[in-house]
Amino acid sequence: MSRIKGWCPGALRPMESGDGWVLRIRPRGGRLSPAQAMGIAAAARTHGSGLIDLTGRANLQLRGVTPATHAPLIADLRALELIDADIATETRRNITVTPFADPATDAVAAALERALAASGLTLPAKFGFAVDTGPAPVLGDTPADIRLERGRDGGLILRADGMALGARCADPAGDAVALAAWFLARGGAIDGRGRMAALIARGARPEGAGTAPAPAAPPPGPGPVAQGALVALEFGQLDPDTLRALAALGPLRLTPWRMLLVEGAATPPDLPGLILDAHDPRLRLRACTGAPGCPQAHGATRPLARRLAPMVPRGQVLHVSGCAKGCGWPFRADLALVATPHGLDVIRGGRASDPPALRGLDPDRLPPLPELF
Ligand code: SF4
Repeated sequence: MSRIKGWCPGALRPMESGDGWVLRIRPRGGRLSPAQAMGIAAAARTHGSGLIDLTGRANLQLRGVTPATHAPLIADLRALELIDADIATETRRNITVTPFADPATDAVAAALERALAASGLTLPAKFGFAVDTGPAPVLGDTPADIRLERGRDGGLILRADGMALGARCADPAGDAVALAAWFLARGGAIDGRGRMAALIARGARPEGAGTAPAPAAPPPGPGPVAQGALVALEFGQLDPDTLRALAALGPLRLTPWRMLLVEGAATPPDLPGLILDAHDPRLRLRACTGAPGCPQAHGATRPLARRLAPMVPRGQVLHVSGCAKGCGWPFRADLALVATPHGLDVIRGGRASDPPALRGLDPDRLPPLPELF
């Protein structure tokens, strides 16, 4: 087992953070059985701090793991069939599956998982796949390098991220692995890093890309859906009791939108940290772990975001980041407040790393929020 500092932890290779090691679980097919979810809840409390994050690629992170608890935690997760054979297999199995998967989509995701495991490819740690072949595409804004989608005529297509068009495919899993091999052969990975969109931007073009994908729908808010009920998590975080209560209602599908889909549930329980109302102002917030959990943070993030939530206008996104890295929301926000050693920087309509419009504001003496938007 080795540890890395950076932002791609796995289960076998956790990452150091300010509150201990962070360990990432990649549920197979983006789904947890009730027994798996309850097992994770117990393991998070026994071997970690109990804090569980839902990531932007629909994975779970357990926080507060220690060198002493890592091995027993892996043993517990392995018994739940959540652990890969080795680090290489785990790293490669970076697949986001639409939470609205039908049985055919589940089969594609499982086949892709097997094909990747057998491929032996060494892909960059952040290189990922999206299986978005459900009734309507919803993963358009979810980071992925290779996308399996539906074309406008309903047929399956394979699209390299950065390309407007995809190629029709008869063997989705095999074709996706072949496209990953093409990425490597064309020099997409340099020193173990690289993304498909950057390779496409340099002019490389995969063969056969001539079919437009069906338009992606915006992610729904919390509430009932055909498959069950979507519940949102404040800042994408939940505790073991909440996870256990949700698992008691049915299997869980993970989403990349800080929400869980409880399959078959009509009314989820109203528990602390769960957001059930699509108009809840907390849905307008994005915030990373911040201080003290992250050693790189220049300030606390979530308490400030919570305080400002009622003043965030409807339809707008406020991002509070502990530093310019912007892990909590790697996209543009209507307003970003970024902690620096000299106070808060203000970025309008950009990412945390963009040039600020204002610098060094005192977090305790902010002007009225609408004036900052
Ligand atoms: S953005 Fe937040 S979580 Fe990421 S490194 Fe900066 S402070 Fe840490």
